[in-house]
Amino acid sequence: MDILPIPGGGGTRIRLAVWAAPSPAASLVYLNGLESHHGWFAGPAAQLARLGISVYALDRRGSGLNAEIAADLRSWLDDIESAVRFAGQENSGAPIHVAALCLGAKLAVAFCVRSPGFVRSLLLVSPGLATKTDLRRSQKIIAGTAFLRRPGPALPSPISNLGMFTSHPVARAFIESDPMRRTRIPAAEFLEIRRLDRMLARGRKTLDLSIHAFFAEEDLIVDKAETTRRLRSLAPSHRGTVEVKTYPRTSHALTLDPGIPLAEDMAERIAERRAPDKNRHRVLILEAAYETVEAAVEKALDAFPREWKNKKVLVKPNVIGGVAPDRHCTTHPTLVRAVVEALVRRGAEVIVGDNPGRLGYGLNEASFKASGILEAVPAHYKNIGLERAEVPLPRSRLLTSVSMSKAVLAADLVVSLPKFKTHQLTQISGAIKNSFGFVAGGDKPKAHRLAPTPKAFAEVLVDVFAVRPPDLVIMDAVVGMEGNGPTGKDLRPDIGRIIASENAVDVDTVMAEMMGLDRARVLLLQEAYGRGLGEADLAGISLDGDLPKIPEFKKPSTFSLQPRNRGFIFVAHRIVYGWLVGVGARMTVDRSACTSCRSCCDICPPRPKAITMKVRRGKLAPEFDPKKCIHCYCCMEVCPAQAIEKRTPLGKWLFKKQF
Ligand code: SF4
Ligand code: SF4
Repeated sequence: MDILPIPGGGGTRIRLAVWAAPSPAASLVYLNGLESHHGWFAGPAAQLARLGISVYALDRRGSGLNAEIAADLRSWLDDIESAVRFAGQENSGAPIHVAALCLGAKLAVAFCVRSPGFVRSLLLVSPGLATKTDLRRSQKIIAGTAFLRRPGPALPSPISNLGMFTSHPVARAFIESDPMRRTRIPAAEFLEIRRLDRMLARGRKTLDLSIHAFFAEEDLIVDKAETTRRLRSLAPSHRGTVEVKTYPRTSHALTLDPGIPLAEDMAERIAERRAPDKNRHRVLILEAAYETVEAAVEKALDAFPREWKNKKVLVKPNVIGGVAPDRHCTTHPTLVRAVVEALVRRGAEVIVGDNPGRLGYGLNEASFKASGILEAVPAHYKNIGLERAEVPLPRSRLLTSVSMSKAVLAADLVVSLPKFKTHQLTQISGAIKNSFGFVAGGDKPKAHRLAPTPKAFAEVLVDVFAVRPPDLVIMDAVVGMEGNGPTGKDLRPDIGRIIASENAVDVDTVMAEMMGLDRARVLLLQEAYGRGLGEADLAGISLDGDLPKIPEFKKPSTFSLQPRNRGFIFVAHRIVYGWLVGVGARMTVDRSACTSCRSCCDICPPRPKAITMKVRRGKLAPEFDPKKCIHCYCCMEVCPAQAIEKRTPLGKWLFKKQF
């Protein structure tokens, strides 16, 4: 074990106890309990290091190695972020997990609420989110007034005797002779713990990661039932997972109990979250050109072998609003043809279909015709929007059900052919979003209406995606789109790749990496990862082929203003982002390009609509009401004439970005 000083919150030096593994597969940041310190975790930490997991134990300010530093909630959380970042730098690419004992569990959870995206899972030992012990009333009054004179008097720990920690003789002997144990705690720290409780109460339903709780059967300190309930309310089942293990005939200080396999159990949980399944998490990146794409498609199908013979296969390209293939908003017809022909050679019964969003008789066919796909695979095209089924979404927070093409549900295998694109609302428009095309009829605008924010819409997209994740994804990244997709004019013909995998989330993660996006801020990826649908981190993906970073890739302008953390959400997101991208932004129409087709007005989700068709100077064209617009970009997406744009003149002036 080494003691390392690192810069903590506010630039203060803090000290970490480190058990380094030689070639770590994961990093574990450990947080101590109320009276304890890193030494209480020394046994499991040494064992974890032997199992290939580097451990970084952070003693909370005011305790253990950092006893002399004044404590407050913000510094505690900032220090955790420093320790997590330090672990990330030390073991580049290795996923980071956080373990914590008792009170440390509250801080671990609060950190993940405040700073989502850093941590792969939480391993909470005797987590004390709710306890059976508390300060006496008079002590609470003293703690409540500690803000007047920090740190205030030292109060006795609410854990009144050593027997509450453990009945195990080895653990008992350790605690009795522990010189760093704190039995009296400054009143101000109890005040900060109360603030921590309030922060957790506000964080309900915000966590989307795996939580593993390890409980002692005979714990006299922790209220196990209430703690479990609180963990489940923080990470509800449609977002995260909470798994509970209880060790029989054990007491609170599980980290000191030599009779239980705590380190092995932790290592097993960590391995579950990192093990790259060679089949599910393999992503193949192949160089390709449209003229020779057949060879790349053959390689992809050979790399992910399936029993295709006599199977009903739905091939789902990305087809939007009747645009020509040279605009590269849609999957290129040569790729669709190559995939269909290769599947037919393998004996599959193939249909090709999508719901491109334009509502009305004949518009599905018209969109496929414009995209060149109808001509490329005339015998396989099917209007899958005609036959629908109502699919319940019991795990969705926003939708109870969705109308989906029956062809999706009837298919033995689904092959998704997304396009490598940006999107102003969802940041990326790749494999996860391609599944939104399974939604038929008017349920797409309804979903936008019920989920008007980027975060809510990411949830809905993943709700739909999770109904029927594709069996194989082959992404058209031969020519990609940058800037303000999904129907923008900025193309990248220099990508020259197809990207294939059995996991759509992994494909999007690789795409986001190629785009140079901060994956922790790509809401779709985080949402899908949080539900265990794929990897949002390259560490969990088995890459086959070079992953090129596209030089000077233009991010969607809305991405630059996406909030980084919750504090930012409430201040900058509401004020700056909300104003610039919301009120300050305007949808505008190029009246000379408009063909008066009404598709934009038909699709516009709000009720009443933000678009009305009006005749001016003898021409029927849309007019936009910015107060009703929810910035879903559906109108841009379906406009076959590419006549609609978003303009934010002040945003451009302020940020010198492309608004
Ligand atoms: S005007 Fe366009 S962007 Fe605004 S709500 Fe209607 S369809 Fe969406
Ligand atoms: S802007 Fe004109 S061409 Fe474009 S969808 Fe609307 S009505 Fe059709």
